[in-house]
Amino acid sequence: MRVTVLGAGTMGHGITQVSAMAGHDVTLRDIDDEQIESGLDSIRSNLDGGVERGKVTEAEKRETLDRITGETDLDAAAEGAELLVEAVPEKVDLKKSVLSEAEAAVDEDVVLATNTSSLSVTELASALDRPERFVGLHFFNPVHIMSLVETVVAERTSDQTREFAANYVDSIDKTPVVVRDTPGFASSRLGVALGVEAIRMVEEGVASPADIDAAMELGYNHPVGPLELTDMVGLDVRLDILEYLREELGERFKPPQLLKRKVRAGKTGRKSGEGFYVWEDGEAVATSGEWGDR
Ligand code: NAD
Repeated sequence: MRVTVLGAGTMGHGITQVSAMAGHDVTLRDIDDEQIESGLDSIRSNLDGGVERGKVTEAEKRETLDRITGETDLDAAAEGAELLVEAVPEKVDLKKSVLSEAEAAVDEDVVLATNTSSLSVTELASALDRPERFVGLHFFNPVHIMSLVETVVAERTSDQTREFAANYVDSIDKTPVVVRDTPGFASSRLGVALGVEAIRMVEEGVASPADIDAAMELGYNHPVGPLELTDMVGLDVRLDILEYLREELGERFKPPQLLKRKVRAGKTGRKSGEGFYVWEDGEAVATSGEWGDR
């Protein structure tokens, strides 16, 4: 299949890599050569890592890279595409304009997909003339490692498009879950619900962040606890999602004061060096505040 990916950032380069590894020809489109080069560099470095770990052969690496073309011109990038996956920043107006431009550049039977993690796919479809050919394909970061793809079915997504999306997800060796287009889909809604309860538990003094995380890691086999995960995602990002989910789904998603206080203080998690933990060189080394060392 020929796939075009719009946006060469964190997600776009990953979607490009897994599609090319599956044998699809991929054109990666971004607004300038620098962004494309940076996306291609990330793909090369992921593949080098795969070769070092014995997961990818030198030949597979070469063939994968040979299937990828970078392109800044939209018409050239979209030419011959059967699937177009949009992975530009999470801004509704930007996504609508990128999708509508892309739709005009492709044939009528091409499927368009969005990698939005929180926006309404049905609302994005309102920018399109052929909403029945549009679907959400929510990949997870890092794309080449995470096996889940949430397939988000919008109000007007056709059965044919849904089936096409399922076949594509299957072809790249990922596991789909099919979700109706609702706020937070399935993964964010549940993940955030667990995270927000964990924050309330810290606020109420139930246990330390490290013990709450250990309860989920050791008791429920979660690879990482809800508070450490909140630090990794970014407390500011989580706060935005909570505010959106509260508006859409009600008070059970009300952001806790502790989360708001930390965000106001610039304690946004791993990226700022402190959230529920103190971070050094990408590792949580101590618990933030009154709870002392990890
Ligand atoms: P990013 O900022 O890393 O990359 C976005 C890229 O899009 C940039 O390279 C930017 O130059 C490019 N871009 C901007 N306008 C463009 C245009 N008109 N045409 C083509 N490219 C354009 O963002 P990201 O983290 O990769 O997120 C992309 C999408 O994926 C968002 O909708 C986000 O919510 C979603 N998502 C992100 C994650 C994550 O962990 N980062 C996980 C799941 C889903």
